[in-house]
Amino acid sequence: AAFSEADLPEAVMANVKRCKYNKPTPVQKYAIPIGLAGRDLMACAQTGSGKTAAFCFPMISKLLKEDYKPQKAGAYGSKATPVALIVSPTRELTCQIYDEARKFAYQTGIRPVVAYGGAPVVDQVRELERGCDILVATPGRLNDFVERGRVRLRDIKFLVLDEADRMLDMGFEPQIRKLIEESDLPATGHRQTLMFSATFPKEIQQLAADFLHDYVFLSI
Ligand code: AMP
Repeated sequence: AAFSEADLPEAVMANVKRCKYNKPTPVQKYAIPIGLAGRDLMACAQTGSGKTAAFCFPMISKLLKEDYKPQKAGAYGSKATPVALIVSPTRELTCQIYDEARKFAYQTGIRPVVAYGGAPVVDQVRELERGCDILVATPGRLNDFVERGRVRLRDIKFLVLDEADRMLDMGFEPQIRKLIEESDLPATGHRQTLMFSATFPKEIQQLAADFLHDYVFLSI
């Protein structure tokens, strides 16, 4: 398989080349077409499998194909209204995803922003105010921003829950349920949701049943 078979827009293909990705990893080979088709996905894949690109490429590609206009910087105190949200358990992983998302969105005008706990809110708020198309965040800080009215989730088209099993191990289930079930995030079936997990125990099966709509199951 080759990336050229995946029907990715030119700007994304240029970034694939810039990253020196010669051929898709197995999770990319299967997840990219599923993502581009607009389907929900439950993927069992390990860290290091290339899953970040597997969800970022379709997300960015679909925005470009829909002729999405990236958001402009807002006034001081304005709310960020991202169209894509990636939730991951730790600061380290969240920053890694953010760094990758920036490379994949390079020269597209689409702007990723990162938010995680244990760092000053002011700097992250300033970045949000500069325009936020893709928000990469840990559950606690994200809830905080939603509650303070800094972030609104009503325009989210793509939701990614990365390392879902680790999020549950870390006790984030109530925070994630609050975000998905009690915020202004569009309901299941009115957004595209991609969930990634290294393992697939009962608790993850339940999350998949609750948060995904008519999903494809992929195990790598
Ligand atoms: P991830 O599983 O998303 O954390 O990716 C693991 C590492 O593999 C990262 O450093 C990626 O930049 C790299 N990577 C992802 N996809 C490919 C690919 N198709 N070819 C080469 N390297 C890749």
